[in-house]
Amino acid sequence: MNPEVDIPYPPRSWLQDNIKSLYIAGLLVLIPLWLLVSWYTFTKQAQENLHIQVENDLILFADSLDSELEKYRFVPKMLIMDATLALAASNGSVLQKRNIHDHLNHIRRVTAADEVFLLDIQGNTMASTTLDNQTLNYDHTPFFQAAINGSSGGFFTLGVNAGIRGYYFSEPIFDINTDDVIGVVVVKVNMARLERGWLNKRTPMMITDEYGIVIASSVPSWLFTSRQSLSQVDKQAIKNTTKYPSTSFPELQTQVIKELGAARIVSLPKPGYQRVLEVNLPLSELGWQLYGHGNLRNLDYIIQRNTALSLLVFILIVSLAYVIVQRRLQFQETLIRREINQARLQQAKQTLELRVAKRTQDLQDRNDELKQAQTELIHAAKLATLGQMATSVTHEINQPLTAIQTSADNAEQWLQRDNYQRVANNISNIKKLAKKMAAITLHLKTFGRKTDNSTSWVSLDEAVNNAVQLVALRCKQEQIVLFINCHQGVQVLADLVRLEQVLINLLTNALDAMLTSKIKQLHIDCKVENHHQMPQICLQVTDTGTGINPEHLQQLFDPFFTTKGTGVGLGLGLSISYSIIDAMGGTLSGDNGPQGGAQFCLRLPCKEPDRGA
Ligand code: ADP
Repeated sequence: MNPEVDIPYPPRSWLQDNIKSLYIAGLLVLIPLWLLVSWYTFTKQAQENLHIQVENDLILFADSLDSELEKYRFVPKMLIMDATLALAASNGSVLQKRNIHDHLNHIRRVTAADEVFLLDIQGNTMASTTLDNQTLNYDHTPFFQAAINGSSGGFFTLGVNAGIRGYYFSEPIFDINTDDVIGVVVVKVNMARLERGWLNKRTPMMITDEYGIVIASSVPSWLFTSRQSLSQVDKQAIKNTTKYPSTSFPELQTQVIKELGAARIVSLPKPGYQRVLEVNLPLSELGWQLYGHGNLRNLDYIIQRNTALSLLVFILIVSLAYVIVQRRLQFQETLIRREINQARLQQAKQTLELRVAKRTQDLQDRNDELKQAQTELIHAAKLATLGQMATSVTHEINQPLTAIQTSADNAEQWLQRDNYQRVANNISNIKKLAKKMAAITLHLKTFGRKTDNSTSWVSLDEAVNNAVQLVALRCKQEQIVLFINCHQGVQVLADLVRLEQVLINLLTNALDAMLTSKIKQLHIDCKVENHHQMPQICLQVTDTGTGINPEHLQQLFDPFFTTKGTGVGLGLGLSISYSIIDAMGGTLSGDNGPQGGAQFCLRLPCKEPDRGA
């Protein structure tokens, strides 16, 4: 892998870019659809519930109606067994009318019927619990006709006199001997009594007879209207039954809005009945139809509320799904980005490591080059110092040479005089001088050769003496008084030749500075200090020269800093000395001394003779 190549983030997916638009578009499309479906579902459900409720109410009412009628159906059947009635019917006696009337009244009270009456075979009332009906003739009524023909009758009809709706149960009274019908006993139940059953019902109801005529209704104005237009045949049949005084019935304006299988939505002519669910239940025994009307208006609020609630839940679920998907996508993206960031970090780390390694290598190479150059420079500086010392050395050698010359001449003359003792003295002197010269040249030879950087314990006295020796002539010529105050036998950890080179540089600079001074004193002081529990030598070179301009103190050890004229100073002496001492683990500093001249301090690890190695 190329560490320089940037790892790109993967492009965002189509879903990530479009999820919000998708959510909004989805809502815009799905909300109307959801509204339609939920409204349809809730409407259907509400209608079904209402259907069941109405149907239950109808069944309950039908049951109660049935049991109510059943109760009365048996009353006339029982009454025909009543001997008092049978007797009254058989002899048509009106004398007993009073008694019979009381008897019938008793029966009416006990059975809670509306009227109980006895008819003769012509339909004339023989006795009745209603005094006003005592003279009525029921000859034309279906219940009389049925009974006179020998069968039980149960008929709905309007009251002959007062027009009150009633259900009449009739039963023929047979002669015990001939089995002929001798009278008819009738029990009338008021329809209003039967209607009481639906008084407390939620569902408004109506009952139509076999011709579709409303004979009972929760809405009184619909009574005796017809559910459908009557044909001539029907009208004739109605007329024949004489159930109703008239044969014309206004039509109940019923508009079927929607057929719903077993039920239908209809509009009926009364406020509150414009949209009702109509359920019908045939009362087959009676030949009637029972209708119940559930108000759909009441459902509208429930349907709207449920639809709104379901829409809210739907929007919540879709929004929740949207949030979850969006969060998931974001999370995935963050995860991928985090992984890529880690890879990028790893890559950057590798790149950095490579660069650091390359730079380190470069730096190492430069350092090596620099070290090489520095070594060369130090050597060159040393040679330059050597050049400077040439005069001094020549003088140093010239002096013993002249002395050797003189001693040799003297020896020659003493030899001619046979004074061997003096010859021997002169030869000994020559040997001493030759030794001294050899020492000087040996030192020069040693000083001139290249050295490595290795350090060892070397004698500080030797280094100081060698350096002083090389500047001694100049001191003499320039009348400089030299003061050396150093402990004997101190050893320092250094390269002897290089240490000498530094000392020569410090001494030469001091001599240069004192060229124009009136007082010319050069002090070399050594003292042992303790530095971090380690002894170190502090060698001070103090002069009485010009001193150092305070502005120059910072640049003193900078390469090529010199205040000497062109061609006189190179400005490398102190800079090289500094690096030599630094490489040996010591320090070199310079400042103005207390007496006005300059003071340089050289510090190196040392060991004193009394302490041992
Ligand atoms: P150079 O001797 O070639 O100038 P150095 O590095 O040895 O180079 O010295 C740098 C400068 O430091 C000198 O030019 C001088 O200005 C100053 N200097 C060094 N030693 C002394 C001293 N003992 N007294 C006054 N100035 C000094």
